[in-house]
Amino acid sequence: MPSKILAIAVACLAAAATLTALQPPGSQVPPAEWTDSLALTAAPVLPSPLPPVEDFRDRAVLLCWHSFLGDPSLPTDFSLPELAAQLDALKALGYGFVDLADALSGRFAGRLNVVATIDDGHRTVPQAVRTVFLPRGIRPALFIYPAIIGNVPYAMDEAALRSLAAEGCLIAAHGYHHLFVTDSLYKSEPAEFHKEIYKAKSRVESIVSFPVVLYAYPYGAYSPVTIAELSRAGYAYGIAVLPGFIYASSIRKANYETPRLVVTRDNWAGIYAQLARNASGMP
Ligand SMILES: [Zn+2]
Repeated sequence: MPSKILAIAVACLAAAATLTALQPPGSQVPPAEWTDSLALTAAPVLPSPLPPVEDFRDRAVLLCWHSFLGDPSLPTDFSLPELAAQLDALKALGYGFVDLADALSGRFAGRLNVVATIDDGHRTVPQAVRTVFLPRGIRPALFIYPAIIGNVPYAMDEAALRSLAAEGCLIAAHGYHHLFVTDSLYKSEPAEFHKEIYKAKSRVESIVSFPVVLYAYPYGAYSPVTIAELSRAGYAYGIAVLPGFIYASSIRKANYETPRLVVTRDNWAGIYAQLARNASGMP
């Protein structure tokens, strides 16, 4: 009878639960082979201490925008009102905006910090900076690839870049032709690989008359050889496309794999939700 079997099973489970509950904590004796193997263990190996919790307290998120045409068919493009709404939404969560140079130098505190960056050098960037970012006290860092600057209708020219630099925007490198600067390019076209790193640096420096030590990997793509070459060229940081925070404490920095999120129409809601969780203190 199924009902009888069920009744017996329930009774057995109840008895087992009672037995377990009656045993005092720690009363179970481990099998002899366990204690033997423990006895053979040499001096205890202590785990390395975890970083103190303070090292994770002061943190910032790097965000990356691209262009501001207001073309809904472009995943990385936003209208100026859309951009303004995003920035205001982050401010409403309690976030403040930190200059990239301050962030990478650890000159910030707390967990509610955002760093604004803009990649490529689109012609819509100056208006976005002047009418949306600067009025909110935000100076975005611009990562540009010099091949287009002043050479194509959709890009800024040198004068526009210098003007934004004079208004406090950090200008840095993003390749020369915006190629995939990976091991594949290093092996197939080494001259192009080097141009993406060395000529990008010298060209941006000649435009802004300032040392360029930051490099944002085009498409977020890089290889170990890219990092080695960036270091050799004199870049101090490689900005990737990776999730995560940067931390004010120096031990949490992986300089050539600095995390950053590209804002797209598809992922903005997710980025906002993540930053809302961070603002609420939940993990
Ligand atoms: Zn780019």
